[in-house]
Amino acid sequence: MLRRETIHGPPILLKKRFGQHFLTDRSILTRIVQFANIRPDDTIVEIGPGAGALTAQLAAAAHRVIAIEIDKDLIAGLRAGMPANVEIVEGDALLMDFPYGRFHLVGNLPYNVATPLFKRFIENRGRIIDATVMIQKEVAERLIAKSGSGDYGPLSVLIQYYATVSYGFTVPPGAFKPRPKVDSALIRLDWKPNVTEAHEFTNFVQQTFSSRRKKLANNLLQAFPGLGRHEVLHRMEQAGIRVNVRPEELSVDEFLRVYNQFR
Ligand code: SAM
Repeated sequence: MLRRETIHGPPILLKKRFGQHFLTDRSILTRIVQFANIRPDDTIVEIGPGAGALTAQLAAAAHRVIAIEIDKDLIAGLRAGMPANVEIVEGDALLMDFPYGRFHLVGNLPYNVATPLFKRFIENRGRIIDATVMIQKEVAERLIAKSGSGDYGPLSVLIQYYATVSYGFTVPPGAFKPRPKVDSALIRLDWKPNVTEAHEFTNFVQQTFSSRRKKLANNLLQAFPGLGRHEVLHRMEQAGIRVNVRPEELSVDEFLRVYNQFR
């Protein structure tokens, strides 16, 4: 369903499939720029500028802003209204390698593709100094969750393996037009140093969380049926892990130790 909405300037035809909820609360825009800790000589890549409200604030604080927007109907309006240090790029951030040197990533992300975007950021983390993004609050809680809590899951392990996650602040639906159904939250990812690439580790975590109610040993047995129960328990012991532990009780480091026994 398409619906027209006036954010500022001419009405915009909203596209639900692109997760379009535009920030209209100026104080929130200011707080995002503050939390992103932008300096005058920084380059920023913004994901999804939308109607350009955050883009304009970023441009006032940084040296250069490259803003990537998928919705071709927004491009002309964005280009017309931006200062000279903003470059509007029409494209899908999910398919990009971000060839813009080293930059800070900022964005009020389309919530429907936040998880694949995080995977994209991880793949390109050599270029991304840090990432300050708005996401659904529920997802933010999963990203910061500690082992043993109900929110802790494969996404928590994946992100915390690569990054330290800081929670900025919560943003209520009323700060957006149209209003989303859920609360949002701003978070920042700072990459951990010297982390080795680990696609296999990510798959392993996904498999071992396949059923969070089951004991880890049973999930491992399901993932590695050829090993047999005795060998699975032996390898868990080698990793220094209790054999009756559940997946959500394992910290990221403990997951890594188990992975190293099974890869
Ligand atoms: N930054 C604006 C603001 O805060 O008001 C808009 C944020 S809105 C939640 C998400 C924006 O991302 C929309 O403009 C949408 O069209 C754009 N978008 C959605 N999917 C995208 C993708 N894969 N690549 C680039 N932009 C995307």
